[in-house]
Parts: sequence; structure tokens; C-alpha cells
Amino acid sequence: SSWFNQAQFIPPDAIFALTAQYQADPFPQKVNLGQGTYRDEEGKPWVLPSVNKARECLRTKGLQHEYLPILGLQSFREETAKIVLGAELFKEQASKIATCQSLSGTGALHLAGLLLRACHTKLPKFYIPEPTWSNHHQVFQSLGFPCESFKYYDHEMKSLDIESYYSMLRQAEPNSVVILHACAHNPTGCDPSKEQWREIAQLMKARQLFPLFDSAYLGFNSGNFDEDAFAIRLFLGEMQMEAGVCVSFAKNMGLYGERVGCILMSTVDRQVAVNMQSMLEMLQRSEVSNPPAFGAKIASQVLGNDELKQMWFQDMMTMSGRIRAMRAALYEKLIFFGAPGSWEHLIQQSGMFGFLGLSHEVVLKLREQHHVYVADNSRISIAGLNAGNVEYVARSITQCLR
Ligand code: PMP
Repeated sequence: SSWFNQAQFIPPDAIFALTAQYQADPFPQKVNLGQGTYRDEEGKPWVLPSVNKARECLRTKGLQHEYLPILGLQSFREETAKIVLGAELFKEQASKIATCQSLSGTGALHLAGLLLRACHTKLPKFYIPEPTWSNHHQVFQSLGFPCESFKYYDHEMKSLDIESYYSMLRQAEPNSVVILHACAHNPTGCDPSKEQWREIAQLMKARQLFPLFDSAYLGFNSGNFDEDAFAIRLFLGEMQMEAGVCVSFAKNMGLYGERVGCILMSTVDRQVAVNMQSMLEMLQRSEVSNPPAFGAKIASQVLGNDELKQMWFQDMMTMSGRIRAMRAALYEKLIFFGAPGSWEHLIQQSGMFGFLGLSHEVVLKLREQHHVYVADNSRISIAGLNAGNVEYVARSITQCLR
């Protein structure tokens, strides 16, 4: 008999398993469009020039490996709040925001959940778009929250189903939490327009729903940070709503494995913010004691230095520009090869992913016959495409559909 008799077998995470499957494939022309990690024109991981420079600065200054404070690096937390809110809103609201460095975006979501749980005797319901990033349900279910999916995407029209969205908001239980992808919705690549965001904010405010922003692609989506932070600033600024913002620097700084993130909890009252700040500190202490230092020092160096920050803005343009160009290239090749069906949706989407709308059977064929690795829901990471493989991918998709 074992202490762990109750342990069940949990299948591996689908996206990480797909990466492992790709790595084990000896086929020379194999293409990995699974995991959302940026790749350069040669298909290689890219260290941002701004990040490289920040690393040099840190090395010159002399890097120590002391513990950070429990809440994380003060300058990093402050710079994060500043860039996410924008200078003006930051000046106005900084004293009403509790911030805590986190283990990237996932850690920020988890901390936000811990804080929301600690503040409510009756656990609020979480409304989560369907489809969504595969980890959302896991993170919030593991904390005991009742999670409910709402229809976000119209698979037939291959576009955002805004009417279903509004209708969910009109019927949602007051005092529930709604998960909002701040921009570059994963996996669909379909975001609400500015007008639609206004409607969403008004409905949520009227029904006392709490916005929890998952913000993993700020600046990476359009290449312009301010543009990508539109929805967050609308809710916090114009709408004067309380909200949580879970920030990740994995994609926009290419700091994936360094786990650099931050939770911003904005409230209506200074004293509430002070209390929440103290709770975040207590919750962080019991989870990880204090967060990792190296990545936060890099991010803080980039955000806090004008020259490096300008370089970083340029780096985000480089990444988002290359992704946009590859999205267009794939579309053109699909049309050129006469791939059955319409492909307009692909160029209407934005962000890191293309949501192709292929059947599971086609996805498997792509993998098994053509060594093109695509997530089960036919989401592709566009960053995995380059001039050397886009034609092969388009031809493979076309053949699998014929
Ligand atoms: N949210 C979404 C929607 C994502 O796509 C990701 C990254 N795949 C994350 C959060 C968090 O990633 P990380 O924990 O690496 O910052």
C-alpha cells in the first residue's frame, strides 16, 4: 500500500508534449508551429537586442545573487505599473494599485486567484472564454473556483461571437470574475474592437463583474504597447473600475524561461490598496517566499532606461512585423496553391497565433505525413514560419485538405 494510492494518471500537457514529439522527429524539413515562442527568420530563438544590452549593463555593474524582497524588485514593479497604465494614468492612480512580482503570467494569474479567494468567503464564479489558453481552467479550478465557459468564437463564421459575449455578460451572476485577454486572444487571434471593449466594460460595470486581465502580449500584438494596453486603460481610467492585470514579459521581452511577471490589482481606495498589498506579500511568502531576481533585473533595466526602452519598442516592432509578414505570406501561398476553403480569417486575426479552423483529422495528417506540428485545435504559432518553410507548410495544408 502506498500513501499515493489515490494518485491518478494525468495526461501530459498537450502543447509541451507536442514540442517533445517535434524534437524527437528526425525528419529534416519538420516544422514546429506548436508552442508560442518567437523564432527569427532562421527559425532560431531570438534574444532581443535591448535585453542583450541590459544583460551587459547588469554584468558591468556586477551581478549579485541576493534574495529579492518578498514582493519582488521594487523598480520592476513600479516600471511595470507605469508602462501598463501609461504615464498619465499611473500618476493619477499609482497609490490605489497593489503590485507584486510574479512567476511570469501564470504566476500572476495564480496570485490573483489566491488574493480573490482570500477576500471572499463565498468563492466568486469565474467566466472564461471558450476557446481560451489551455491553462486558465487549470489555474482557477485548482484554487477551487467554480469555472464556467462562455462562447467567444463562432467556428462557422471564424470570428469573434460578440453577441454571445454580451449575452453572457447580461446574464452573469453579479460579483463574478471575467477572464479577459487584454489583446491577442489565445488561440483565436480575434480581439474585440475599441467600441466592443467599451460595451463590454459598461456591461461589466453595470453588473458588478470583476475584470481579470490576462496580459501576455502587450506590445507584441501590434508592435505598439499603448495600443495593446487600450482595454486595460479603458477599464481602469475612463471607466474607473477595479481590476486585476496579470502581466507577463515572456513574449514581449523574450524572457520565457526567466519567469518575469507582475500582478497589478487596482482598487478604488488607497487604504484598500495598502491592505491588498500586505495580503499579496503574505500570499507570496507562503508560495515562493520571494520571486526570481535575474529576469526582473533585466526587465527593470530595459524599462527604466530611455535608450533601452526605445530599443525594446523597436524589438517589439521587429517581432510583430515579422509575424504579420509571415501571416500574409502563408495566406498568399494558401491562395496560390488553391487550398480548399476561404482563408480571409487568417489575415483578419492578429497576434502570435493563427487559428486555422482545420479538423482534427487534418491536424493529425499534417503531423504524421508532413511533419508539420500544429496544436490539436489547429492553432499555429505564426512565429514558427519563415521564408524557408512557409511554402512547404502551405503546400502541406493544401494537400491534406484535398
Ligand atoms: N496567458 C496567455 C493567454 C498565454 O498565451 C500565456 C503564454 N503562453 C500566458 C498567459 C502565460 O505565460 P507565462 O507564464 O509564460 O508568462
